[in-house]
Amino acid sequence: MNSEHLAGGRLTVDLGAIVENWKHLNRQSRPGKASAVVKANAYGLGISEVAPALAKAGCDTFFVALPGEGVKLRALLPEATVYVLNGIHSDVSKIMIENELRPVLSSYEHVGTWKGTHGAPCAIQVDTGMNRLGVSVEDAISLSSERPVNCTHVMSHFACADTPAHWLNNQQIEQFQLVSEKFSGVESSLSNSAAIISKGALGHDLTRPGIALYGGEAVNGMANLMQPVVSLEARIVQVREAKAGETVSYGATHTLKRDSRLAIVSVGYADGYPRSASGSGVPLRDTVQQGTFGAIRGHRIPLLGRVTMDLMCFDVTDIPTKDVDEGWIELLGPTMSIDDVARAAGTIGYEILTSFGARYARRSRNL
Ligand SMILES: *Cc1c(COP(=O)(O)O)cnc(C)c1O
Repeated sequence: MNSEHLAGGRLTVDLGAIVENWKHLNRQSRPGKASAVVKANAYGLGISEVAPALAKAGCDTFFVALPGEGVKLRALLPEATVYVLNGIHSDVSKIMIENELRPVLSSYEHVGTWKGTHGAPCAIQVDTGMNRLGVSVEDAISLSSERPVNCTHVMSHFACADTPAHWLNNQQIEQFQLVSEKFSGVESSLSNSAAIISKGALGHDLTRPGIALYGGEAVNGMANLMQPVVSLEARIVQVREAKAGETVSYGATHTLKRDSRLAIVSVGYADGYPRSASGSGVPLRDTVQQGTFGAIRGHRIPLLGRVTMDLMCFDVTDIPTKDVDEGWIELLGPTMSIDDVARAAGTIGYEILTSFGARYARRSRNL
């Protein structure tokens, strides 16, 4: 792990906030309960810290995407129920069994592969309208009577939960209801973060929150009530004076309108900070005029010109020198939310989180 002195940015993950967010979502899931989706290294925040903190708070069921993520999680949590969302292929069955990982089966092929395990637990995923993973509703109903595998969980996934009024939501709820009724005695889950917040557990036993645990916005246009989890600060490596009329960064795409003080920080797109968030000089700025901001002591400061691999430039002309001299600029935190940066970059908070690079000094704040 990079020490703070050696790194260009420091990333702080508030585990206490993640636990509070999980407890909130768990209450919203009543009379069901919440699991935790910790795929992609707990959305980039560090599964080794996040998963044990959630287990300690009472979370007993976890979802990952890949067998490798499951193996890592099993080493951290010997007791937890772990489902692997992306299914299986025959080469991996043995490792799944050895690590007591339960695959989420999404096709007859998956079911055929898992049949050979003679009773090891698994989940079945039903496609109710997203056309990503899952067996059809008809096939799921057949599987519910055939019972070829030891299915302990049946699930489906929303395509449009972030838009509660979308017509597809009700169709998916109804289609999944047809299936879950047939799997009597089998635990069921449907809601992701957005659905928990807008509709609760929808009568199912379990929910599967991801982004909301990590402080991200789940429902479009609804105030985000989750506690912020991530703070990312970039080290200022140089402060420079520049004259009106001069240009900034590659391509000379930003021309200074006034004599300016510029703070250069040592974070760039190689750290996963999106180049598309640049102040100018990227295609997105043809449609979305405003680039992103950083912040110093609660004051927003614009990012000027293009984000480069290891460096970027902020306008600190209006910031008191003593505050700039502290040497750090907030990239994400109390002033700049994940979703503000995501919007300026033409993406979603999920992608901001899961893109965090390996060069940051990472630390977690405990409960
Ligand atoms: C990623 C994922 C989730 C979590 O979704 P969020 O929107 O992050 O809450 C739940 N279920 C499935 C199947 C997923 O792939």
